[in-house]
Amino acid sequence: MPARSGWAEPETAGTAPVSAARRNAYLVTLVVLPAVVPAAAAGVAWGRGVGPRDLVIAAVMYTVSIFGISVGYHRMLTHRAFKCRRPLRVALALAGGLALEGPASLWAAEHRRHHKYADRPGDPHSPWAYGESAWGLARGVLHAQVGWFYTARRRSDRRHWVPDLLDDPDIRRLDAAYPLTAAASFALPALAGGLWSAS
Ligand SMILES: [Zn+2]
Repeated sequence: MPARSGWAEPETAGTAPVSAARRNAYLVTLVVLPAVVPAAAAGVAWGRGVGPRDLVIAAVMYTVSIFGISVGYHRMLTHRAFKCRRPLRVALALAGGLALEGPASLWAAEHRRHHKYADRPGDPHSPWAYGESAWGLARGVLHAQVGWFYTARRRSDRRHWVPDLLDDPDIRRLDAAYPLTAAASFALPALAGGLWSAS
């Protein structure tokens, strides 16, 4: 494999090519916007009273999305570690979507592949992908944290890794509505702040 892409890219079973357009869309919606929009908003609001309400809203959104990812996407959907009633299941999956880490079935597919190949070729986000030199590990940390998602030339094939989730009508609907969920993740804090300060 060329050093540029580490060993995360072999054509292991259950992967499919991902287009450059899609990689760029991931980069913009999942990495650039979540960093730039809050920074720009903080810049605009600077000196105009970013107050305790904003911290409360940020803390609530953070808590909801963290639980959505760790309990919903990870434990419930990826590892099927527990079962719960349908409203809670949908709420947890929806909360995971608010974290802007992608649609539930894609997240679960990548994570099941990660466990199958953990820290070996085929693992989509191992920090060891670029070797054990200091430079390789520095690149590996970046790759494992965020870089893997928008540089990967191959994406985990959902039909291979998460057929159970593709068979779940609730998850299918949430996947299809993911752009709306992502938009809501940006809109909800603004809406909450506006309503709260108007009250
Ligand atoms: Zn896991």
